[in-house]
Amino acid sequence: MRNSSDRNLSTAKLFFMEYQTPFSGHFHILKSVLFKRNTRFQDILIAETFDLGRCLIIDGKIQSSTRDEYIYHEVLTHPILTAHPNPQNILIIGGGEGATAREALKHNPTEVDMVDIDVTVFRSVQKYIPQMCSGICENPNFSLIVSDGRKFLESTPRRYDAIIIDVTDPLPKSPSYLLYTKEFYSAVFKSLRKNGIMVTQATSTFYSKYFFLSVVKTLKEIFPIVRPFSAWVPSYGSLWGFVSASKLFDPKKLPPQTIIDRLKNRGIFDLKYYDHNVHKMLFELPRNLSSPINMGEGEIICDENPQYVPI
Ligand code: SAM
Repeated sequence: MRNSSDRNLSTAKLFFMEYQTPFSGHFHILKSVLFKRNTRFQDILIAETFDLGRCLIIDGKIQSSTRDEYIYHEVLTHPILTAHPNPQNILIIGGGEGATAREALKHNPTEVDMVDIDVTVFRSVQKYIPQMCSGICENPNFSLIVSDGRKFLESTPRRYDAIIIDVTDPLPKSPSYLLYTKEFYSAVFKSLRKNGIMVTQATSTFYSKYFFLSVVKTLKEIFPIVRPFSAWVPSYGSLWGFVSASKLFDPKKLPPQTIIDRLKNRGIFDLKYYDHNVHKMLFELPRNLSSPINMGEGEIICDENPQYVPI
């Protein structure tokens, strides 16, 4: 049956549009809205969709969906934690739905601190999408700290083996835009132990490619080993960018057998996306990304010169 324009023009009951730029985006017809609140930090929505299951949406951007959140959270967490021989103290900045903490706890750390600025995110996900944060509150090694991640880092005496930055995309006036700067990454470097490793989500490699390149360039100012990587996340409708940075261990040089052994020795058998084969694929960037990175494209992001995603 040909697509009648009526279908494209029909106004659905509940229609959610996520803009990627002021000129394009993707939309979802919703079954229902389960939760909506404008906190002093951001606009939070939890909705039931037809194609992605339940979604957490912040400031108009899908953060995660029950359909495919395992992809993003496994890719964000396991490459760097597997690259570290014994990640015992782990810090997550952001990660409000608890899924990053859920994945990090699989490595049997003695401590996972999750620092999120807006407790309403966690509380609403606990109520409406409990599978995202399953089991973390019962784990004695997990702590939720409600604070601005940067303020926490700049004041804590704690030191970590791994730091995972899982904050929202940087929008003007968003609470997260100062967590992508040189000053912030210096604080991350200070809070990591001498063999520490970090990772940050780094937005879309297509819709905010220059920003992704700039995150790579900025981290290279601070860390000796910087490894960008990417994965397609259906909910985000884009090849998603991540950047790891390390003082000693290089995730790109991690032998497949070491990955197999470490996942096995840590009792991690329930992953749905990540394994030793996927690990290699993640770090093999396509030329439209590897070439500009090698050419040093992008700019140093700093407090005086923050960068944002298009919308
Ligand atoms: N997967 C998502 C992505 O790639 O954009 C991120 C998910 S998570 C819901 C983003 C979290 O960052 C939210 O819970 C939000 O409250 C938190 N956040 C934003 N700015 C923050 C800050 N300055 N300090 C700590 N948490 C922050």
